[in-house]
Amino acid sequence: MPPPVFVRGNGGLVAFSDQAISVFGQYVQRRARDREAGGVLLGRRVIQSNDVVIDEATEPAPDDSRARFRFFRRAEPAQKAVDRVWANSDGTVNYLGEWHSHPEDVPTPSGLDLSSWRETLVQARFEQDFLLFVIVGRTATKVWELSSDGSLVALSTR
Ligand SMILES: [Zn+2]
Repeated sequence: MPPPVFVRGNGGLVAFSDQAISVFGQYVQRRARDREAGGVLLGRRVIQSNDVVIDEATEPAPDDSRARFRFFRRAEPAQKAVDRVWANSDGTVNYLGEWHSHPEDVPTPSGLDLSSWRETLVQARFEQDFLLFVIVGRTATKVWELSSDGSLVALSTR
């Protein structure tokens, strides 16, 4: 199911490209043996608005650690993707956050997710004052926004 447009706390919108939607759709954990998947979100802030467009969701890399209830992304392959789009877009496309899948219909972040999101906020290099975290569930995709002041908001759909 394609994710709809999400509304940020400040009224801005978060929209996903067809590429991102198709990557999410590919990794929905429909079967019991499907493992969690994930990657990074690359995109742009729309000038003079609070809107955000996710242009690309990267796919899991071969060395990522994937289990039914756990996904751990190796930093290096994703960093290459971040560097590539940044260079190809003359610096307009940036790292905006992370996505991963869950084997539940309507996903909620685990305690481990919440702590790793906060760790990402501290450790990742990014230019905006927030990060977006997507969890792809079996029947719904959800988005959370973590601001650099530490506040975490579940985004509603428009
Ligand atoms: Zn998770």
